[in-house]
Amino acid sequence: MTKTILVTGGAGYVGSHACKALAAAGYTPVSFDNLSNGHEWAVKWGPLVVGDVLNPDDLDAAFAAHKPVAVMHFAALIEVGESVKYPEKFHRTNVTGSFNVLKAMGRANVDRIVFSSTCAVHGDVGGALIKESSPIDPISPYAKTKAEVEGLLADFSLSDGLKAVALRYFNASGADPDGELGEAHDPESHLIPIACQAALGQRDGMFIYGDDYDTPDGTCLRDYIHVADLAEAHVKALKRLDGAVPGVEAFCLGGGVGTSVREVLDCVKKISGVDFSVKLQARRPGDAPSLVADLSKARTVLGWTPSHSDLTTIIKTAWAWHQKHHHH
Ligand code: UDP
Repeated sequence: MTKTILVTGGAGYVGSHACKALAAAGYTPVSFDNLSNGHEWAVKWGPLVVGDVLNPDDLDAAFAAHKPVAVMHFAALIEVGESVKYPEKFHRTNVTGSFNVLKAMGRANVDRIVFSSTCAVHGDVGGALIKESSPIDPISPYAKTKAEVEGLLADFSLSDGLKAVALRYFNASGADPDGELGEAHDPESHLIPIACQAALGQRDGMFIYGDDYDTPDGTCLRDYIHVADLAEAHVKALKRLDGAVPGVEAFCLGGGVGTSVREVLDCVKKISGVDFSVKLQARRPGDAPSLVADLSKARTVLGWTPSHSDLTTIIKTAWAWHQKHHHH
């Protein structure tokens, strides 16, 4: 009998890629999603339960109907700018929602969870490589909710014997190499999809937010991690929880390389063959100059190493997806 995994946010960008990786590893992913940002078309490898993490009855019904052995918890609001405007909404969905998931797990006797966290829990470390032991110092309300949930995981490991892995993502990017899934946020705020939309003529050019940072070309350095590599890390994390002792363990997941905004845009222009307009704008508030992962712990402890996260593969897969699916 295949093992069932409840995937909250399974219709979303990273969640749907994780479902594909779970199915490939022999699990049955059950997506639990309110479809506020997720897409029904992205649920292809198991059933979809339309439900809300803010409704404990929805969660109880999903656990009762599908009897998962573990949870992957992606369901959350993710837009940093919006979190500055509406901190209460973010706190409710991300923190109360996670609390509800943990309580429902307790009622259903499920004790393993892989949690979707962010490198932003570390805030701005001043250009040093970020590792799991770097200080927790989130800046945005969004990042604060993720840090708070990591704290909840630790609390529940003591009170309820919870076994948890928190995966701190750097810049999730790219699309399924088989072309079955991709990124589709609305509104879109991320660099690579915006550049692909500009190359497709769906927007009238785009902006670079600041080129006066203390970095090699003056634009911000980010660590882009291919979503298929991220999905693979979730499966490894899940397997690691088999037979684990209660506790919470964190891993930083990036490609391990800093890439500038200009390098990304040059690569999108090269791969698309379109020289779209790029204008300079003022810095975007809250952007750190450089956020790059130290992958040592993920490599040695999780046994994971990214294999699709070179810039060319990321942009090629993203571009293929955007060309095919611009109606989404
Ligand atoms: N960025 C940009 N123009 C855009 C969108 C993003 O110059 O239209 C920059 C942004 O300022 C940051 C980097 O691209 O330095 C990555 O931004 P994104 O929103 O993709 O991810 P973040 O690192 O903020 O999570």
